[in-house]
Amino acid sequence: MKKKVGIIGFGFTGTMLASHLIDKSDFPFELIIVDKLENFNVGVAFKTYSNEHILNVVAGKMSAYKDDPSHFVKWLGETRWIEAEAIDIKDRFLSRNVYGKYIQSIWEKSENEAIVKNIKIKTFHDLVDSFDLEKDGSTTIFLKQGEIISVDYCIIATGNNSPLNLEIGNASFYRNENYFQNPWNKEVVENLRDDHPVLIIGNGLSMIDTLLGLLEKQYKGKIISISPNGNGLRFIPNIPNDSEYLELTNELDSEIDLLSVIKLLKKHFLKNSDSEITKRLIIDSLRPHAKRIWRGFNNRDKQIFLRYFKSIWNYLRHRVPLDVYRKINQLHDEKRLEIKSGKILDFIENDSFIEVKYFDKKNGKEETINVSRVINCTGPGADFMKYEENILKKAKEKGYLSQDDLKLGIKTNIENYRIINSFEANNLFTLGINLKGEIFESTAVAELRAQAEQCANEIVKCIQNDVTEKMLDYNSYLK
Ligand SMILES: Cc1cc2nc3c(=O)[nH]c(=O)nc-3n(C[C@H](O)[C@H](O)[C@H](O)COP(=O)(O)OP(=O)(O)OC[C@H]3O[C@@H](n4cnc5c(N)ncnc54)[C@H](O)[C@@H]3O)c2cc1C
Repeated sequence: MKKKVGIIGFGFTGTMLASHLIDKSDFPFELIIVDKLENFNVGVAFKTYSNEHILNVVAGKMSAYKDDPSHFVKWLGETRWIEAEAIDIKDRFLSRNVYGKYIQSIWEKSENEAIVKNIKIKTFHDLVDSFDLEKDGSTTIFLKQGEIISVDYCIIATGNNSPLNLEIGNASFYRNENYFQNPWNKEVVENLRDDHPVLIIGNGLSMIDTLLGLLEKQYKGKIISISPNGNGLRFIPNIPNDSEYLELTNELDSEIDLLSVIKLLKKHFLKNSDSEITKRLIIDSLRPHAKRIWRGFNNRDKQIFLRYFKSIWNYLRHRVPLDVYRKINQLHDEKRLEIKSGKILDFIENDSFIEVKYFDKKNGKEETINVSRVINCTGPGADFMKYEENILKKAKEKGYLSQDDLKLGIKTNIENYRIINSFEANNLFTLGINLKGEIFESTAVAELRAQAEQCANEIVKCIQNDVTEKMLDYNSYLK
């Protein structure tokens, strides 16, 4: 009987994993794919309600294949999404919807390859409610609409959670129709009123998406953003630059603690204090080493980093295209966008507006503002135990997996992507954002494409071992 491989979650990571599995396997197997979204391959990131929503990385660095860095740019040329003569294409930030088409085109090719290789694919557009691990190493997957599926290998590629609700006194507010927990839904910028400002919680990349969505809808009212690290815009405009800064990474020891990293950064920043561009290169040079650095930190270092340095790191490593940077600056200069530094305390519902109570860090006191809607742009939530309904939460309650010490994801063996649990026959894998606690930077395409390929190698090895064992059994039976 053919082995069955089940993938829960079919965004970028699930798609690239499946594509590599099909490409690498010499033996036929059955592939079962489940995703709750209407569209496969794209997740929340790469199919959005607005073409104004752009990638946060230039096209030249968005190939789906680590070993073929210009694959995306070549695809753009071949499919004429962008004028072939656009020579600066690799330095441009393109629409995330175009990127979604790119991943879909990769999957279409893989589906054709699967037919040739006699690999059967079964797809389900449904929510995985829960799963059970069986004694023989198989996994039983329960779908919301009642279907029950058994697979030999199960991979959890569930990706981005919606942002977590803040802890406030009046939790019933979260049922208010003018509160949007998920900033990626198109409804957040529909049916707008401009009698009161719109409140955006957070001031990172999701805020930029929401601002661009509001502008596209010709919203003329005021926008207020509140976040603990507010006060002014915290974005760096992208300036194309192909050079690398190697001095700092040459000095990185194989084992390094947080204090040493900060000292090194400080030294190189001071040395290049007159060049903003070099400072950006210094930050960029660290990113490929993030996994090693993070794993070198002890838990205390990790906690200190998350508490005091994470927001600076996010600010320094993200770049926005110059035209978007200018648009947002203009909103800010015209006082249509106000960025406040503070902590939200509570929301009180009124007939025609929402009263927001927050602690204003600048004034050092509690303040109130009235807004027409509240959009949560705090970014994907990490601690899955804080969600009411969550497949990982249910799995943890059954003892199939555990959280890492910092509650950022799932405890996983990062050498082979197996989820760490006490089950002897363990055919449960995960990758992508669920590895955040293990390696910290496990979010962007640059990291996920490599993981998808490595995880596929592991599973192909398992399938081939199984087939070889069966053949040996059969041969000894014949003797
Ligand atoms: C708004 C946004 C923009 C981004 N832009 C960029 C960018 O420009 N460049 C970059 O490198 N990275 C970007 N990222 C990072 C991004 O997370 C990854 O690049 C990539 O999209 C993650 O893919 P994924 O498959 O791991 O997760 P996702 O894309 O989140 O896919 C996970 C899939 O699992 C499904 N799923 C989850 N739970 C269940 C369940 N219980 N049952 C069934 N299905 C389930 C979801 O429906 C989803 O389709 C962005 C992220 C976001 C949120």
